[in-house]
Parts: sequence; C-alpha cells; structure tokens
Amino acid sequence: MFSLFLAATCALSPLPQSELQGVHCGQFWSDPTVDAQTNVLLLIREGKIEQVLTAGEDWPEDILIHDLTKAFVMPGWIDCHVHLTGELSRESRMEYVTQSEAAVTLRTVLYARRTVEAGFTTVRDLGADTGAIFAVRDSITRGEIPGPLILAAGSAVTPSGGHGDPTHGFRETLFDLPGISEGVADGVAQCRAAVRHQVRRGADVIKLTATGGVLSDTAAGTDQQFFEDELSAIIDTAHMLGRRVAAHAHGSAGMAAALRAGVDSIEHGSFLNEECLTLFLEHETWLVPTLHAGQTVVTYAEDPDWFPPEIARKAREVGPVMMSSLGKAHKAGVRIAFGTDCGVGAHGRNAEEFSLMMRAGMSPTAVLTAATRGAAQLCGLEASHGRLAPGFAADLVALGGDPRVSIELTERPVAVMRGGRKILWQGQRVAWKEVSPQK
Ligand SMILES: [Zn+2]
Repeated sequence: MFSLFLAATCALSPLPQSELQGVHCGQFWSDPTVDAQTNVLLLIREGKIEQVLTAGEDWPEDILIHDLTKAFVMPGWIDCHVHLTGELSRESRMEYVTQSEAAVTLRTVLYARRTVEAGFTTVRDLGADTGAIFAVRDSITRGEIPGPLILAAGSAVTPSGGHGDPTHGFRETLFDLPGISEGVADGVAQCRAAVRHQVRRGADVIKLTATGGVLSDTAAGTDQQFFEDELSAIIDTAHMLGRRVAAHAHGSAGMAAALRAGVDSIEHGSFLNEECLTLFLEHETWLVPTLHAGQTVVTYAEDPDWFPPEIARKAREVGPVMMSSLGKAHKAGVRIAFGTDCGVGAHGRNAEEFSLMMRAGMSPTAVLTAATRGAAQLCGLEASHGRLAPGFAADLVALGGDPRVSIELTERPVAVMRGGRKILWQGQRVAWKEVSPQK
C-alpha cells in the first residue's frame, strides 16, 4: 500500500509550469551535430528550456531537480510520417466499414500515448480517414491527454482511384463516390479545392499521393497517378496557404514529377533513380525513407492470409528496394528526415527505424540527426524543436547509455519528458494529470 502511494505521488508532475525545475543529466547531447557533454543541469520553465548549465557554473539549490545522472539525455525524437488513427491488422479492412469515428478516436488516443512513451515527442500525421486526428491533436495541446506534438495532414489529396482513394476493393454500393471531402480530386480546380478544404479542417501540412501505393487494393501499380498540372496545383495552393507538402512516392516517374513541382518531402522514395537523385539535390527536397513500413509489409506478405493478392504482390516488390534507395540517396547527399509510417508497423516501435537506417549505410549520428535537427527543419520547427537549448521545447528522451555505441538503446528509453512534463520515468509510465483551463 505504502509503495503504491509513493509511486503515485512521485509520478505526478509536481509543480505548476511556471515554477523553475531542473533535470540533472549524466550525459547530455544538445543535438547530434555537436559533442556530448557530461554532468549538465537543464533548467526548465513553462515547458521550455531556460538555461543549460555545466559543472563549473552556479547551480540553483532551492528548486526541484529530477535525477537523470545515470542516463544519456538527448532531444525528443520527431517522426515525420505516422498514421495515428489506425494500425494495420488482419481486421483493418473490416474495421474500415464497421468502426465508428468515436471508436477510431479512442484508439488514436492510445496510439498517441504509445508513440510519446517511445520517445517520439513530435510527429507528422500524414493521412487520416477521419477528423479524429485533429481532435486528438488539440486535446494533447490543451494538456488533457498525454501525446506527442502532432502536425496533422487530415485526408491525403489523391486522384480518384489513386492510392489514397478510400473506396478501393469495396462493393460499389457501400460508399458514395468520394470527392473533395475525402481528399479525392481530379484536375487543377479540384486539386486546389481539396487543399483548401484540408486547411479549412485544420491541416498543418498537406499530404499528396504522387504514385500508387502498396496497401491500396488495386492493380494500378506503384507509379505516377497525378498529372504535373495537378501536382503543381496542390503544391502551389498549399504553399500559398503556408503549408508544406509531403508526397507519397514509390515509382520514379511520379517521384520525379513531384520533385519538379516543388514538393517539400518525398515519402518512401522506393524506386529513386539518377534523375530523381539530381532533382532531390537541385530542389533540396527531403527524403523520408519509412523502412519500418517496408519491412513490415514484406513480413506480412509472406503469410498468404494477410493481404489480398494485389497488395501482397506490391509489398514484395517495394519493401526490399527501400533500403538500397536510402543508401544511394544518403551517399549522394540528399537530406534525410526520420519517418516510419507507423500505423503500417505497430505504434510505439518507431525507434526500430534507427537500426534499419544504419543497415542502409548511415552512421548513428546521421540517423539521430535525421530524427532531431533534420526532422525539425523539414517540419518548420527548427527554431523550437530538435535541440535542447535555451528557448527550445523541454522535449527530451533519456537512454540507458550512449546510442552511438548501441543504437538498440533507442528502443528502450528510460525517461521521456514532453513540454517539461514527465511521460515516462525510470522506464515506468507516469500518471497524467490533466491541465484544465477551469482550474
Ligand atoms: Zn503513410
């Protein structure tokens, strides 16, 4: 009984956000592009880093100091490609026609929590079938539930019959023909309208499907699906409205078209060729590799009960090339931002992407930079996230040792803090005390 009581009281974030608090770090990495330091005190107020003090400096004595002296502390990670409103399972297609939006919302809350507990304090949600993602994003921002900072795209913008069309493979009478409300758009005018509609719903970023995809139940292949004028219409409208654009792209023709049209990131980039590499470098476009999803669908495709035949065929074709394409892109100097496509793979296992990226030829420092400074830059958050420095968000992840020595340590964080509030501590979930504007 006594120990339960202790755990509960220690677990709550003990101070109002306006009080100064400290985190004593054994090893500290303000970001992976600089040297790690030992014995550092982070001072946090109002969810932000106020000061970073080293051993020789004056440390305040009258404040609450959280002990991470046995840990390696670095900025919380950013996953540039997740789908928090679902998780692929054998039941996914049935659930699509049976689950209520309320049921989807409750699952989204669960997946958001798993994600932040895994050390991912910011995510871009690149495509959701319901408005649940906006409600969960806003609830997290208000401090009602734990979760990462979410930049949400809403529905992906896709041509009719394209990868993002939600009606593939279902009986025609089940759905009305999808339109702009579902992100389905053909021709310049509809493409502009679809972007404007997502922005009206609250989208922070725009997702488009430049090519076919693995998990749509259609024999439409994995290459170009939008015409160049449609791509330009989506990207120019989004940029006019201050939103960046992420393009789902496997095939090289569709990828090249999206790159030429000025997209900000290519997601997957499976069949990138020399022309694509040149365009990546010329336009300084980011690649978000999502190897975790590639590996997941290849594994599932081995089981004949998992996918309809068209999906299994595409999975076997696309999964294996993603890793060699990332290797080529990294070697050529393409900017790489971390992204997993979790929702294909299981939420909370995002950090498995780090070792996959290393297998593609990247160093530990490069993969960790891709999930901090790099991802922050792609998301337009470089002034507030991706580093632990004065003025930046107090979003941190603490590991049991140096991830440059053993990258697998990233899969078992010992502590996570988001906005100065404890999410995970000594490997244990921390009880959430909701912030209510009435109190
Ligand atoms: Zn995706």
